[in-house]
Amino acid sequence: MIVLKFGGTSVRDAHWMRRVIDIAYDALDRGPLLVSSAMTGATDDLLAMAGAAARGNGEEALQLLENVRRRHLEVCRDITDSDAGPAHDVLEQMLAEVRYLIQGITLVRECTPRTQDAVVSFGERLATVLLTAETERRGIPVQLLDSRQLVRTDDHFTNAACIVEATYDLIRANVHPHPGTLLIAQGFIGATAEGVTSTLGRGGSDFSASLFGSALGAEEVQIWTDVDGILSADPRIVADAVLLDTISYSEAAELAFFGAKVVHPFTIQPAIELGIPVTVRNTGKPEGTGTRIHAAVDVHGVRALAAKKGVTVISVHSSRMLNAYGFLSRIFGVFERFRISVDLIATSEVSVSMTVDTSVNLAPALAELEQFGHVQVESDQAILSLVGKNLWKDPTFVTRVFAALAKTPVRMISLGASDVNLSLVVGQQDVNSAMQTLHKEFFA
Ligand code: ADP
Ligand code: ASP
Ligand code: MG
Repeated sequence: MIVLKFGGTSVRDAHWMRRVIDIAYDALDRGPLLVSSAMTGATDDLLAMAGAAARGNGEEALQLLENVRRRHLEVCRDITDSDAGPAHDVLEQMLAEVRYLIQGITLVRECTPRTQDAVVSFGERLATVLLTAETERRGIPVQLLDSRQLVRTDDHFTNAACIVEATYDLIRANVHPHPGTLLIAQGFIGATAEGVTSTLGRGGSDFSASLFGSALGAEEVQIWTDVDGILSADPRIVADAVLLDTISYSEAAELAFFGAKVVHPFTIQPAIELGIPVTVRNTGKPEGTGTRIHAAVDVHGVRALAAKKGVTVISVHSSRMLNAYGFLSRIFGVFERFRISVDLIATSEVSVSMTVDTSVNLAPALAELEQFGHVQVESDQAILSLVGKNLWKDPTFVTRVFAALAKTPVRMISLGASDVNLSLVVGQQDVNSAMQTLHKEFFA
């Protein structure tokens, strides 16, 4: 079987949905399972409407809902050539549920993470109804699955962790791909053991695709998006970024982790474990070969650049650190308790600096860190990463990086923790130009 995942841009309107089903049709004899994101912007709109409702701004929330409704019904009309019919009715029923939720949130002026997940889950649910309608219109046998019955998560709503073994069992027991039928499932959404709807975090549909692929022993997981594959840099920042034919799992994971949004960091993990190839391809150009993510690729040197914005550097200065054992573990214990993940670390004898990319729980964590020493916080930073194998083995590499960045202040450096990455912390305002400069240095 094969898993085809389509991102929000690939299902942005009826025209693109037809392309998606063209691609799925071509894979029909491989027993395809299609995993879809919400239509581009729909998740943001649903979040915005829940937010407006929680502020008691019911009018604004209902207006946003009306926009979402209109957009989905227009696509439905385009697909089915009618303003009625089963798909139309299912959409209206789902949209009525969203309306109830929004009215409830407006009344109590509160949107818990659990309720927020209930609201945003409709993005993927609406999109898959439309894709199913298009598949049926063409007379292709299709089965629409409900990922909430297949992807089991914990109850950390809005960013739930998948309970992988339970999920594999559910998928294996209930999903039976076979040639000639298209299976369609929602990315991003799941449910707790109690059946409460949850989501896997922004961009989580890639992870869903990988879970389905791993559970079912897919021959391949294809991530279809709006660029030709994984490029040497984000094309929105570096216009002449080049396509990488292949990339290793570790390089791709590193790129994703450090901000190359094209694949979700977790996507790679379940697939690596089973050696399932993951390819990234362009829905707008299906004839392209895209990028193949392999177990290992023997290419040395810089392969790609990535940037992660919205980073905060936290430094703890304390003379108590001197020759003290257990100091770092107590500091990291604080981050662990508040479920804040630390990306980069640099230590000296009397201080430790760390980067985090979230503001959730940060204030209470900082208050606890004060007990260890003086805490300094620098926001609006960015991590710029150069990804490639054995970079440190090339004696000219670091010189080239710093010569190119002679005019950019670099706040922190990390090289060699993995053998595939050099990461620099720079001010957020400098990161795009620094990326362009480095791209010129290593790819021109
Ligand atoms: P989707 O809606 O398909 O999930 P995303 O917006 O999540 O798409 O990811 C695709 C986008 O990732 C591209 O449009 C591109 O701007 C961005 N991107 C960032 N870094 C890279 C990179 N190294 N290669 C390709 N695309 C990248
Ligand atoms: N629709 C979700 C989001 O916008 C998940 C995804 O697209 O992968 O984050
Ligand atoms: Mg994505």
